[in-house]
Amino acid sequence: MMRKYLTYILMLGFPLLGAQTKVVEKSTYQEKWTLLDTENAAMAFDADVKLSDAETALDKKLFQIRKQFLAETEKQHIPLYNLSFNEIKPLIESSKLFKVIQTMPKGGLLHTHSGGLANAEWLITTARKYKECYVYDQKDNDKYIFGQLGFFENGKVPKGFVNLDQKLSSDAGFEKKLHDLLLLKRDNLCSYTDYWIEFEKRFQRINLLLPYRPFFKEYYLKGFQDLAKDHVQHVEIRYVFDELYDFEHGKYPLEKSITDLQDIVKQMHQSNPQFSLKLIYSSFKFLDSDSIEKQLEIAFKLKKQFPDMISGFDLVADEAAGNSINFYQKNWTKLNEITKKTGIEMPLFLHAGESTSVFNKNILDITLLNNQRIGHGLNLIYFPKSMELIKKQNKLVEVSPISNQILGYVSDMRNHPARVLLSNGVQCSINSDDPAVYGYEGLSYDFWMAYVYWELDVKALKKLVFNSINYSSLNKNEKKQAVEALNTQWNDFVQKANQELN
Ligand SMILES: [Zn+2]
Repeated sequence: MMRKYLTYILMLGFPLLGAQTKVVEKSTYQEKWTLLDTENAAMAFDADVKLSDAETALDKKLFQIRKQFLAETEKQHIPLYNLSFNEIKPLIESSKLFKVIQTMPKGGLLHTHSGGLANAEWLITTARKYKECYVYDQKDNDKYIFGQLGFFENGKVPKGFVNLDQKLSSDAGFEKKLHDLLLLKRDNLCSYTDYWIEFEKRFQRINLLLPYRPFFKEYYLKGFQDLAKDHVQHVEIRYVFDELYDFEHGKYPLEKSITDLQDIVKQMHQSNPQFSLKLIYSSFKFLDSDSIEKQLEIAFKLKKQFPDMISGFDLVADEAAGNSINFYQKNWTKLNEITKKTGIEMPLFLHAGESTSVFNKNILDITLLNNQRIGHGLNLIYFPKSMELIKKQNKLVEVSPISNQILGYVSDMRNHPARVLLSNGVQCSINSDDPAVYGYEGLSYDFWMAYVYWELDVKALKKLVFNSINYSSLNKNEKKQAVEALNTQWNDFVQKANQELN
């Protein structure tokens, strides 16, 4: 301020007293403005991150790349903010920014589901290789829907199912039709779709495929490989348990899926020694309290047997249609009692606030429960007290940008509620929820959307990436190793990206 004043004096000589006061006022205003700017930034979720010189250099380069990209879309009159993910996907893929983000280590994917991992194209190609795979090609009924897949023994094929390979070979247009039936796309931001009804149909179509043990093993290996390829080192799956089976052996106990998954992770270690997996036992918000009690008992039993694999418990499904979290109060009390009795902790990872309505109050329960991570939390911004508590309790919101747009909670991505959370200091991580259903693989697309539409910088990207390990359910020792590995990968990425973007 003093220097400014001196310049003023040098330029104009000694001003009159009145003019002098004006200058002081002006400077004070500017000072206050700068202070406010700093104070706002200090409240953000990434305020504690200090960038290295190399990171700052990369930040400047990425800023320029985004600026160029936006200028180019502007020049071409592309209505970037009124297009759905599905519409801009080719644009993302051809962007320079996407290439960089693809090489960025992502840390962990904390929010994904067992039915949403491996892509539809792979699913059809792999399923048809099994001669025992069939597809339902009749109109929907109470039991089956058109395009539903399943494995059946010869002579035990339910009415309405036809052999998948034969159907694909004899009906030229069927492959594309089936492919579309396995995906949920928001073709544009204007047309009407009953998203959750369509969404749940996508899962029903592959529900019978996943428990078939030979297919199960291929499915998860493919899902993990896709993630590892996109530089995701750790995965936590909201996992719906089902008994695996095959035709030689029949049904296997629930534990089999865990030991099989452990074997698949071991297989992954050959190419990705750092790769790790945790399962969050998931049940459904449309079940009654008694059924949830039984589900919790199974979850406790499995956690006791596999404490390093089962990290906690969640309830999924459309929040607008299912029961509230509050509805299960009795279950949460029981959960605490079991923990006291057995010493086994069962942290909750509840989906809460996947909604834009203030009448959905699931977010209130989160601060009262042992729930370290929140699935979605979109309407948290309408509950300021809860937001304050969630910050104080150091809980993390798992944000899934693309999922939120496809399921109709957000249209123009610039208005995603996560921006409010981030600037208010609520910790978040970036997730893909059900990438296979939305027609993509990996985590790069979600990071791209966040970086472009939320005007993020390298500081924010770094914090989001490291949050995904710091708030993971890896145990202390695993976390330490994972952070070390991530640090090395991150520094390597910054160095290479800086070189390439020269
Ligand atoms: Zn989810």
